[in-house]
Amino acid sequence: MTAIDDRDDVRAGTGYDIHRTVGGRPLILGGVRLDATFGLDGHSDADALTHAVIDALLGAGALGDIGTHFPPSDARYAGADSIELLRATLALVRERGLGPWSLDCTVVCEHPKLAPHMARMRERLAGALEIPIERVSVKAKTNEGLDAVGRGEAIAAHAIMIVRRASAP
Ligand code: MG
Repeated sequence: MTAIDDRDDVRAGTGYDIHRTVGGRPLILGGVRLDATFGLDGHSDADALTHAVIDALLGAGALGDIGTHFPPSDARYAGADSIELLRATLALVRERGLGPWSLDCTVVCEHPKLAPHMARMRERLAGALEIPIERVSVKAKTNEGLDAVGRGEAIAAHAIMIVRRASAP
């Protein structure tokens, strides 16, 4: 049997999130505040994209999910900046000797147009993950008018993260 080298320790994690759209709240995606007449409902800042990224990072480390680490029942996370929660998740993953390598995300959203904000979202996520922006991808699509997302009642996000053993020489 061939011994498995630590440097071969590469893992993938997936994440998904969805939040309802609601009036009277800011719309924050990937740590970027967008101009919109509505926001997302939730206990924290309701940043669905960053939540999907947190779950992908936790998943890659087999460390549970966002609800376990940052329960909505905990008053500390009321209005929380999700980018800060992502930084806390990074620390958790690093304690296990793992570090993020690359990230790919898709936001499913009818409005507003996300293209003008992609660069800034990539920058924010790459900054929080402490990886080069070249390894962070954010894509956007509409839901073609179908289902709750298509009717503009919600915004959803998917993410996949690759992590590697960080301590390898
Ligand atoms: Mg969420």
